[in-house]
Amino acid sequence: MAVQLDQATRDALLERVHFYRDLGLTEFYRRPVEELQATADAEPHHTAVQSLSEAPGGAPLPVLKEETLIPARKPLPSPPPASAAIPAADRAAALDAIREEIGDCTRCPLHEGRNKLVFGDGSSVARLMFVGEGPGADEDAQGLPFVGKAGMLLNNMIAAMGLKREEVYIANVVKCRPPGNRVPAPEEGSTCSPFLFKQIDVVRPQVLVALGATAAAYLLGTRQPLAGLRGRVHAVRGTQLIVTYHPAYLLRDPRQKKEAWADLQIAMRELGLKPPTRE
Ligand code: URA
Repeated sequence: MAVQLDQATRDALLERVHFYRDLGLTEFYRRPVEELQATADAEPHHTAVQSLSEAPGGAPLPVLKEETLIPARKPLPSPPPASAAIPAADRAAALDAIREEIGDCTRCPLHEGRNKLVFGDGSSVARLMFVGEGPGADEDAQGLPFVGKAGMLLNNMIAAMGLKREEVYIANVVKCRPPGNRVPAPEEGSTCSPFLFKQIDVVRPQVLVALGATAAAYLLGTRQPLAGLRGRVHAVRGTQLIVTYHPAYLLRDPRQKKEAWADLQIAMRELGLKPPTRE
């Protein structure tokens, strides 16, 4: 019989899974309970299963009874080919047209829990564009990307680059909030990401910054751990793509901010920007 987890355990588990996801570790498998117990007995302190079966305080989590493995996720769709450049003067209207095309979207199940669709925000002629994963609760309430705690950090990152938020463009892989801020399901991401690609093709930023593993996966058309993608420039639909940590991850592990700043400096170098000098 399946064990029902209490809310605190579920929250701790969710937090842990978010942490792994932010690192780019996105494939999780449930293992049959007999196998889990055998592994725990044989190697009580050294297995991934063991680390996932303890709450942060060290208390053991109930073991789920599960007979079948969760199948590996389907490969991501290849990004569509880039469309022709649009004159700068027409870009704002072209973005409006994409928003109209999306309409009161019901293309995937995420619309069911939506308050506001979060299309994107910023300059239609931005040289720098940030791509996140999907709206959180604050974004869903306001209809704007990155306006919660992670957004405040993103604003600081943009300011540290010597730019104003209004000068960049910000959008997400999915435009409606995934319940509980979970990773968008492949069907959701695949249904919504074509609109992100249209936005990118209209804005034509010189530099794209993928915030976190999900954004990187959809922009590159392949799932890879973040560690292997950071620190270099990827060519994506005529722009230079830099991959860095998601601000929500940086809030959970502020020690990585230095690493994220190193990534942003690559973006600045490509844009010919110098960090603002202190007065
Ligand atoms: N996280 C995201 O990935 N996007 C947002 O808009 C807000 C939080």
